[in-house]
This record gives sequence, structure tokens and C-alpha cells, in this order.
Amino acid sequence: MTIKIKKVAVIGTGVIGTGWIIRLLAHGMKVWAYDINIKQKKILIAEIHRTWPYIKKLFNKKSKNLKNLIFVTSIKNAVKEVDFIQECAPENEKLKIKIIKEISLYAKFESIISSSSSGLLPSIIQSKCKNPKRLVIGHPFNPVYLLPLVEIVPGGKTSKKIINRTSIFYKSLSMIPLTLKKELPGYLSDRLQEALWREALHIINDGFATTDDLDKAIIHGPGMRWSIMGTFLTFHLAGGQNGMRHMLKQFGPALKLPWTKLKAPKLSKKLSQKIIKGTKDQSKGKSISEIANIRDNYLIDLLKIRKRYEKKISNDNN
Ligand code: NAD
Repeated sequence: MTIKIKKVAVIGTGVIGTGWIIRLLAHGMKVWAYDINIKQKKILIAEIHRTWPYIKKLFNKKSKNLKNLIFVTSIKNAVKEVDFIQECAPENEKLKIKIIKEISLYAKFESIISSSSSGLLPSIIQSKCKNPKRLVIGHPFNPVYLLPLVEIVPGGKTSKKIINRTSIFYKSLSMIPLTLKKELPGYLSDRLQEALWREALHIINDGFATTDDLDKAIIHGPGMRWSIMGTFLTFHLAGGQNGMRHMLKQFGPALKLPWTKLKAPKLSKKLSQKIIKGTKDQSKGKSISEIANIRDNYLIDLLKIRKRYEKKISNDNN
């Protein structure tokens, strides 16, 4: 019989680890947290307090139970009792291999280890894992406590049973797991985001637009459609009554035009400064937390609106 997962460890409590912890606490999990930097504890607690009003709104959660959060000072103490471990250390292949190995040595033999990596290959990061069949990628999206998508990516040695259990577990956290058939660098969502990011960096580097222009080019147009339909269904509608067939006929030839430059530009000091200054100007003196509060309120309203419409388009969220 498979046990219901109720005890979870989060390794690394930066932006993503914190997001996972908030979502886990919101769903009644007992969480053991570890970060190499003990100062992260204070930041984590402050972020739990900042976000709880949103948790209340979205998940109907009345009060937060901080007793369910145990901040420990070693990987061993974080993982030894739990059934699921969410690894959230920095995106560095060597570091992930090392941490996953350490987690696997101290964790129960059958506990699931899921890495939050944004694009590393699970086959590589499971290479030194004890019992590697229990290693998967569970790639979330920031803010993890609000956004439902999590990409589950199997490595060469990951078992089907673990993939299924991971998917069931994430569903129990009100998430929408998307299981990939095979691993690929950058998985699905970040492949798409990265293409846009590279294009945007070229446009800035070549002096055609500011960071603000490029953000407006998304938020007032394509971004609004993307939150209900992805690229393909959107383009299907762009083809009029003949849908994708006509869209391909009309815009297919543009694929041969030099519209994209997908090779990334060099991240020079000048380009970095342009982007940093651009986003600072766009923030208009607001702190990161102030902007995050605006984003979180917006996302909660959007999630409620989406619920009303998404079932009309597709009854299948898996
Ligand atoms: P971050 O820099 O905010 O946090 C990383 C945390 O790991 C830090 O608090 C750091 O002190 C801690 N850490 C470093 N070495 C450690 C060790 N040996 N043991 C334990 N903790 C250690 O990074 P992040 O943005 O939270 O990213 C974490 C992971 O999540 C990465 O793999 C990243 O690719 C992935 N991810 C990030 C985002 C995002 O938008 N930021 C989205 C999805 C996935």
C-alpha cells in the first residue's frame, strides 16, 4: 500500500524553496526546511506572513500553522523522516548532483526526491543518487504558492511508479502536473520562455526598444491571450474560419525571414546595465515585495476568472 504523503522536506529556501513551503503549509503538510544560509529563515518567515492573505483567498485557508514548519541545520535532519523531498538549491549541475547524492544517503530508501531544476537533465543529476529510480524533476513556476503548473520530468532511471506518485502528490497540492514523455534540456515551458528572452535581449542590445517597451509588447497583447490559450490554439484562431490551415498558408513563409535570432547575445556589462536600469525605472520606486503584492492580487483574480473559462475550452487539465 502506498502511504499518503504528509511529511515533506525542502532543501534550499530561496525564492522557489520558500514558494514550495508556503504551498505545502497551505495544504496541511508538515515541512522540514534546510538552507546552507541560516539567514534565509528570517526571510522565509517574513514571506510566509506577506503571502498568507493570498493563501487565504485562494485556498480558503483560515489560519497558518507555523508549528508545521521545522527549520533544521543539516540535510540529514531535514530528510530523514519525510516521504517527499523537494530540492531547491541553486541551478548548478555539479551542486545538484552533490546535494541529491547527500539527500539520498540520509533519506528513507523509498522517499521521493524531486528537483526544482529549471532545465537540467534528470539523468545527469540522478547519476550519484542512491536508489535513482525515485529521482524526478518537479519544475514549478514563480510564485509557486499561486501558479498551478509543475513540469514532471523523468530521467533515464526514474520509475513509472514514482512519476505517478509524484503526480498524485502535486495534485493534492492543487497543482496541475504536466508529465513529459522524455527529458530535454529546459523542458517545455522554459524552452518557450527562453526563446522570448533571447529575442528580447537582442532587441535591447541592438537599441530598438527599452525593457518597458518589450514588457508592454507582451502584457497588453499576446500575454492576455496566453493566460487562457497557448501558442497553438491562439494561432488556430489567427487563421480565421480556416484556422491553422490558413494561418500556416499566410504566415508560413515568414519562417524563412530573419525574424528571430535565437542564438543568445553576449551578456555584456553594457547589456546587463541596460536591463537592470530598465527594470529599475519600470519599478518606479516600488520594492520587490510591493510589486509581488500587486502581482499576487492580480494572479488570484486571474485564476478565478480562468476557472470560469478554461473548462469551456478543454475538460482535460492533465
Ligand atoms: P535562490 O538563489 O533564490 O535560492 C537558492 C537557495 O539555496 C539559497 O537560499 C541558498 O542559500 C541555498 N543553497 C545554496 N547552496 C545550498 C546547499 N548546499 N544546501 C542547501 N541550500 C543551499 O534560487 P531559486 O530561484 O530559489 O532557485 C532554486 C531552484 O529552483 C533552481 O534549480 C532554479 O533553477 C529553480 N527554479 C527557479 C525559478 C525562479 O523563477 N527563480 C523557477 C522555477 C525553478
